[in-house]
Amino acid sequence: AADAASPLLRQLNPEQLAAVTLPQEHALILAGAGSGKTRVLTTRIAWLMSTGQVSPGGILAVTFTNKAAKEMMTRLGAMLPVNVRGMWIGTFHGLCNRFLRAHYKLAALPQSFQILDTQDQLSAIKRLLKQHNIDDERFPAKQLQWYISGNKEEGLRAHNLTGRDEDTRKKIELYRLYDEQCQREGVVDFAELLLRSFELLRDNDPIREHYQRRFRHILIDEFQDTNTLQYAWIKMLAGKAEIDRGLPEGHAGSVLAVGDDDQSIYAFRGARVGNMSDFVREFDVRQQIKLEQNYRSHGNILDSANALIEHNSRRLGKNLRTDQGPGEPVRVVEQTSDFAEAQWMVDEIRQLVRDGVPRKEIAILYRSNAQSRVIETALFNAAMPYRVYGGLRFFERAEIKHALAYLRLLENRHDDTSFLRVVNFPPRGIGVRSIEQLQDAARTLGCSLNDAASSLTGKAGSNLTAFVARIDVLREQTAGLTLREIIEQVLDGSGLVEHYKADREGADRVENLEELVNAAESFVTQEGFGRDAVALPLDEHGLSQSPASQGLDPNAPVVDAPLPDVAPDTGETLSPLAAFLTHAALEAGDNQAQAGQDAVQLMTVHSAKGLEFDCVFIGGMEEGLFPHENSMTERDGLEEERRLMYVAITRARDRLYLSFSQTRLLHGQTRYNLRSRFFEELPEDALKWITPRQSGFGMGSRGTAPGRFGIEAGNFPSAAAPLPPQKAAPSHGLRAGMKVFHTKFGEGTVKLLEGNGDDARAQIDFPRHGVKWLALAVAKLTPVP
Ligand code: ATP
Ligand code: MG
Repeated sequence: AADAASPLLRQLNPEQLAAVTLPQEHALILAGAGSGKTRVLTTRIAWLMSTGQVSPGGILAVTFTNKAAKEMMTRLGAMLPVNVRGMWIGTFHGLCNRFLRAHYKLAALPQSFQILDTQDQLSAIKRLLKQHNIDDERFPAKQLQWYISGNKEEGLRAHNLTGRDEDTRKKIELYRLYDEQCQREGVVDFAELLLRSFELLRDNDPIREHYQRRFRHILIDEFQDTNTLQYAWIKMLAGKAEIDRGLPEGHAGSVLAVGDDDQSIYAFRGARVGNMSDFVREFDVRQQIKLEQNYRSHGNILDSANALIEHNSRRLGKNLRTDQGPGEPVRVVEQTSDFAEAQWMVDEIRQLVRDGVPRKEIAILYRSNAQSRVIETALFNAAMPYRVYGGLRFFERAEIKHALAYLRLLENRHDDTSFLRVVNFPPRGIGVRSIEQLQDAARTLGCSLNDAASSLTGKAGSNLTAFVARIDVLREQTAGLTLREIIEQVLDGSGLVEHYKADREGADRVENLEELVNAAESFVTQEGFGRDAVALPLDEHGLSQSPASQGLDPNAPVVDAPLPDVAPDTGETLSPLAAFLTHAALEAGDNQAQAGQDAVQLMTVHSAKGLEFDCVFIGGMEEGLFPHENSMTERDGLEEERRLMYVAITRARDRLYLSFSQTRLLHGQTRYNLRSRFFEELPEDALKWITPRQSGFGMGSRGTAPGRFGIEAGNFPSAAAPLPPQKAAPSHGLRAGMKVFHTKFGEGTVKLLEGNGDDARAQIDFPRHGVKWLALAVAKLTPVP
């Protein structure tokens, strides 16, 4: 068996090898960025299976993003001839969804329960507040959403909470009502997926024992960013409570946690880096492995990362070295405006591409989503293919949500959120008043909006019953069709496409709706939800009935141990439509047209975690932006920003660029920024300043030792606060069509003018340098007669 595995192991260093081939016991790998943690985790899974120590069904692997899960499956598939698709590899949300689908009855859910994304959840809460006449000044919906999700992530239901004051008691009451509403409508929010799975495992002994016996190996990547509930879920599956009660170890599987405390960047969403030390203590972990060799980055990049993170005080302490040599210096650039910064990025990227760097190996990272627009514009104008991750997800666009709402109603007529979204969209003369009447009726009758429609009389009643009938007809017409056909039928039968076609601005939306058909098509091919594949679910029930298979036959489905005491909830598969709707709620829904393209990658630093690229640009390195102003009132906040910067730097293999700008238009205001304090924390000899170091606006000497800025609120210069308008608007006297001269770009023609006073910008076509946006307050332009 060891021979079969040896090619897998040949490429590992001694520490990695030790980690991959650990005996079956709980272990923690604590190591810095790029040291091969994820590689070790993946290789261990392959090693365990190829040496026959575990069948594919005995593995539970948790990754942080869907992208990471897919990558892990691809790598495993390349290492071993095994059907990875059926394996339990995924995000917490994805795995819990699968678990609840398998046991929907025990979880008290309808089979085709739908998932509320963050937007849906907010509108469900708003609806609840309105229904109960709650003053939304006193209880803003967003705050309540935060309250509910936060409590769920701590494992707390409304009945676990007590309120000392009137407001808290009201919030608890609303939490309870919200949960009741979701239950009635057959929908679950993201946090509910986890909490509901956790409770089912906790309360149902046979189910819990089954999964405890089944998952021999539980492996978790990015463990530093797990929250309380996720850790509790893992403890439950790993039989922590049973072991504490004296049941022998080996009753449940062993846990391998992999993480880096320096990359904990989700504290604001409830992640608890303390889970790492708790894990070591509670599981009596004796195997703690450190990896210190970095295989990703050249020396200057790594030195920068190491020096920066040194400024944090609470660290577990790790070292990273590389054998790769110093490589290129980290380039630092100052620009006059965000426009100039974006233009500079595009110029630099053009050069990189000319030098042979694939576009997909170039990433632009930013601290906040709002920064992407200017960069996108510059890339777009330069006809440079690019792809944005995060931001508004494809499946969150309004037109797509409308289409999905129709599809959801086909699956579940009691989904009131979807009902309300499209009952009058496209407009069909159903007014607010009618909808209120309908909601009243539904409340009185204790039924869904769909079912209440027939109880209304008059014009309102007939319009509403017509809508319900329309959905019923669509449901009949689409019965038995393929997913693609269903969607095409719905786009047509709902009137959505027609509606957007009639809209002069609707072309993009029609295109997106067509894209939805493509998304469904590729979902079917990738996930095997085609007509034939439906009959052959890969463990979609969690507990399948086929005989156990230990072999690594590539065509063998992944099979669970037979389980007489726990009957699966259903013999049927989830319909392709229901599966697709789940996919839409859980996946980013990358635009398929862009998916395979060689394009520059744009994303926030948060979503870049775990990834790597040849060349990385980090833009907006300014006080107030990075570190973000919201973080500056707390010490922990600043340390988290620094970890975020550490994550950003360590994404780069060969080249790293850091840029900042003197002015930036953000949320409609021009900000005058100081450059980020992080520059003072980077080693001078690893950097190369492309623009002179001390130049520019507002760069006065700060005379502060690295890492010793005041960080209490008020002690910090309000760096990014918009300045009050000081001067009267300078009349720049420019007009479109005018010829101007710029010291660097030469002669050009003014194309467009935007903004007033200090915010004024001009788009100028410079024959030798292309079209550029210039801030008139900074750019030196002289009219050419
Ligand atoms: P992060 O903390 O950013 O998630 P990581 O510790 O998970 O990083 P990996 O992504 O697993 O690191 O590995 C970083 C890079 O180094 C990958 O390209 C990986 O293939 C490579 N690598 C890891 N170990 C070795 C090795 N022993 N020999 C050669 N390359 C390696
Ligand atoms: Mg990793």
